[in-house]
Amino acid sequence: MRITALGGLGEVGRNMTVFEHAGRLLIVDCGVLFPEEHQPGIDVILPDFTSLRDRLDDIDAIVLTHGHEDHIGGVPYLLKERADIPIIGSELTLAFITAKLKEFRITPKTIQVAAGERRTAGGFDLEFVAVNHSIPDGLAVAIRTRAGLVLHTGDFKMDQFPLDDRITDLRAFARLGEEGVDLFLTDSTNAEVPGFTMSERDLTPAIDKVFASSPRRIIVSSFASHVHRIQQVLDAAHANGRKVAFVGRSMVRNMGIARDLGYLNIPKGLVVDFRKIQSMPDHKITLICTGSQGEPMAALARMANGDHQIQVGEGDTVLLASSLIPGNENAIYGIINKLIDLGANIVHKGNAKVHVSGHASAGELVYCYNIVRPKNVMPVHGESKHLHANAELARRTGVPAENVVVVSDGVTVDLVKGRARVSGKVPAGLVYVDGQTIGTATEDTLAERRLLGDGGVVTVVALLDPKTNQPAEPLEFLTKGFVHDDHTFDGASVAVSKALKHATPDQVDDIGALEKIIVEAVSSYLRRTYRREPAVMAVVVDA
Ligand SMILES: [Zn+2]
Repeated sequence: MRITALGGLGEVGRNMTVFEHAGRLLIVDCGVLFPEEHQPGIDVILPDFTSLRDRLDDIDAIVLTHGHEDHIGGVPYLLKERADIPIIGSELTLAFITAKLKEFRITPKTIQVAAGERRTAGGFDLEFVAVNHSIPDGLAVAIRTRAGLVLHTGDFKMDQFPLDDRITDLRAFARLGEEGVDLFLTDSTNAEVPGFTMSERDLTPAIDKVFASSPRRIIVSSFASHVHRIQQVLDAAHANGRKVAFVGRSMVRNMGIARDLGYLNIPKGLVVDFRKIQSMPDHKITLICTGSQGEPMAALARMANGDHQIQVGEGDTVLLASSLIPGNENAIYGIINKLIDLGANIVHKGNAKVHVSGHASAGELVYCYNIVRPKNVMPVHGESKHLHANAELARRTGVPAENVVVVSDGVTVDLVKGRARVSGKVPAGLVYVDGQTIGTATEDTLAERRLLGDGGVVTVVALLDPKTNQPAEPLEFLTKGFVHDDHTFDGASVAVSKALKHATPDQVDDIGALEKIIVEAVSSYLRRTYRREPAVMAVVVDA
């Protein structure tokens, strides 16, 4: 069996692992990664499907472990390449992906499974195991082939008192361990965190306190998929005589799905329409919206900017009931400060116990290794430091060091005769979705955008005399975002004249080459003289 992670190794997001056996492929998860500040204008980042492109017909199925964006967000883009790949997942996961695919006008071929079920997908014998996570209905998957037994945890933790009483099925983990797990792929996100992840139930007092003590409106921001946390908010609102409205398309859609399928228990009359709640007294109002990661277009950011129907004011309470994904810190702190300036009281995991992670800490991972006793381990889901911390835990429980493979995206690992070894590499670059384009924006595009953002742009329009190859009229400098005065470009014009004198006959005949000479002369003049690096463009016109 060959195992290739096309995402999720060396980053938190775009999780995707490809399993290949006897010429057939099984994909586990296909998620997106969210862009950071140094990736301006990018909507989401996908795994690189290059290595799958001429093998689409070999794919037997996509297994989705749970409904988080970083595990399902890439599916619409993969299905654009082949629409009838069967998607296997639990009830809630399939409901979330089906709703998402509807926005892409794709009707998927789905196969619903439940924890404890066993079924085949082409050449793969699959068994699904309940795992507990920050979204309901998560599954680990055991994959049996003639090459051996592989167990992939997906995202998981071992909350012993979860809100839905559905704990990670360690008895199944133990049974699979007895059978002999040849390769164990485990969630590394919290491998650096010592001890055990706190129970979701332990948040109840802190959330209750917010509801009991807030004088005016309470605005809760969370992930649109965080059904458990939203249940806690609903319960607290109900207990304190408040009404609730969901705000924002993804929040309304997902909570509707969760309620219809019975994953969210909403007392009668508690949830009202957003328009209706606005006429109620402030101390009766709870609003639940997205934007807890500082996403600029989400409701919370727009409220902070005064750009939303909901005007945050003195005495309102904003509860950030979710994690802070690395890379989003600046954006979210900016929003917190703006909300405080508007007079709101902010409750977040930094000043109250209103969030626990959805991932297993080191203590839970070590338990798993001791229960499963895998022959080989491949840490997944995390930045390098998380993968290496997880690998160390595996080794400490006695997995031989040479059987713990820490690899990055695209590196192929072969499981042969019970041993996992690195065997090669396939393309696994970042694929940027930018508006309607997929993979068209490149690292160069982003470098240009950063340059524009930092230094602005200078366009030089040059009317050249073909005989002398010198400007027939003074050069024209057009700028955007580049601060200058009447004389800033005087020296630049001299530099351009000088550079044009040195042009070779070949260059004189080639407008592109002349433009390049001008760009270089102006760029280097501005850099030398003002220590400024705008993006420079040149347009040459024959006089
Ligand atoms: Zn997850």
